[in-house]
This record gives sequence, structure tokens and C-alpha cells, in this order.
Amino acid sequence: LKDEVDKMERLSLVGQMAASITHEIRNPMAVIRGFVQLLNERSPKEHQSYFHIILQELDRANAIINDFLSLAQNRIVEKNITSLHEVLEDLMPLLSADANMRGQMIELKLADVIDPLELNVKEIKQLVLNLARNGMEAMDDKGVLRIETKNLADAVELRVTDNGVGIPPEKLERLFEPFYTTKANGTGLGLALCLSIMERHNGRIRVESKIGEGTTFIVSFSKPGHAISETAAAKYRNGAGSA
Ligand code: ADP
Ligand code: MG
Repeated sequence: LKDEVDKMERLSLVGQMAASITHEIRNPMAVIRGFVQLLNERSPKEHQSYFHIILQELDRANAIINDFLSLAQNRIVEKNITSLHEVLEDLMPLLSADANMRGQMIELKLADVIDPLELNVKEIKQLVLNLARNGMEAMDDKGVLRIETKNLADAVELRVTDNGVGIPPEKLERLFEPFYTTKANGTGLGLALCLSIMERHNGRIRVESKIGEGTTFIVSFSKPGHAISETAAAKYRNGAGSA
């Protein structure tokens, strides 16, 4: 429980800082990007690879700022009664294009019937995208990413499974920490954001993983009118479960 309190304090501090600086950073960055693009168009071809790197890095910095801001805005979000399936189907073109570029496949396995949930669609899209991208980044070009839904008695479950490198047990508990990353180009904010999104959706997120076999992130939404079960809550507080 102390860890949980520490995390909340850290997030609220992050929130105060982020709110005051992100807007101030975004504006000059947008101006820089515009002029770099203009210079790129007016420069000799042999300079194009440099401009490509500049733009790519600017976009990465922007992605960090956006994730940071979403993470910081641990606010009450507007939710609408929505089918999770609709959200997933909306995302499929984007996810398939992503997977195609990597030579990977996506397998969508939807429950026959699914109860509607109170969702902030933008946030849930962000959540699925973050989990799917992590999965893809953990796999080679023979990777298959499975996105699966289950309609349980008191909850709707979303499982994102990859057959990638897997996560060593000693790293499992650090995954959701802001800025924890093992990637050269990572922000370490993806899963921290997923966790805060699920906190705002009366749900939870946990992970099962086996080295060399793959990883499953299990996201579970309580159905409207169903409280979080105590056992599930206890499991959540004890951190990520392992396979
Ligand atoms: P980032 O992707 O920017 O590194 P995340 O918060 O999304 O940040 O993920 C944090 C870390 O968790 C990753 O750097 C990686 O080490 C690990 N991770 C997340 N998802 C997976 C996965 N599906 N398979 C293996 N490792 C993962
Ligand atoms: Mg990520």
C-alpha cells in the first residue's frame, strides 16, 4: 500500500510540473518543426537524411511531451457507453498497417457477445495502441499479435498477447513506472499511461510473461454496477502477477 501511496504522490507532483511546462514547450517545437520542414524542401538532396533525423527526433520529443501530459492529467475524463469491440475495430486499420510494416500479423479474437462499458474512447484507443506497439516491438518478423476479448460475469477482459522475447521476472514490477524503459528510443511512459487510464476506468491491468515465449497484458474493466472484487484488488496491489 505504501508503494501505491508513493506512486500517487509522484504522479501528482508530475502533474503539477507537467501542466505548467508542456504548453510552453509544445509551441516553440511546432514552430521549429515548421521551419525545419521548409528548410528541408529548399535544401540539396544530400542533406535530406539529416533533416529526416531532425524531424524524427522532434516527433519523438513531441510524443514524450504528449504522453507526459496525458499522464499528468490524472483528471476525471468524460466517458460514454461504448462497445469495446467498436473501439478495437476502429483501430484495426492503423494496427494492421503497423504490423504489415514489420512483417507481423494481427489476430483479432472477439467474444461473441460483449456488454457495453463506460469508456473514454480516446483513452482506450491510446491504451490498446500502447500495448499493441509494445507487443510488436518485442517480436521479430514472424511475430503474431493476438488481441482477444472475453465477456466474463462481472467484467470485460481484453488480452494483448505477443510471442516475443518475454520479460524477466525481476523486471515485471518495474514495467508501470514512469520513465522505465529498456529501449534505446523508448519513453518509458506507455505503460505508466495505460495504468493511469485503467485507474480512471475502474479497471486493472496485469501482465503474464515467459522468457522466450511471449507476454500477455490483461486489461479488465468492471461492468457498470459491479464493484472491483476484493481478490482482484489485492492481486493488483501486490503488483504484476507472473506466469
Ligand atoms: P517504452 O515502450 O517506451 O519502453 P513502456 O512503458 O511502453 O515504455 O514499456 C516499458 C518497458 O516494458 C519496455 O521498455 C519493455 O522493456 C517492457 N515491455 C513492455 N511491453 C513488453 C512486451 N510486450 N514484451 C516485452 N517487454 C515489454
Ligand atoms: Mg511502449
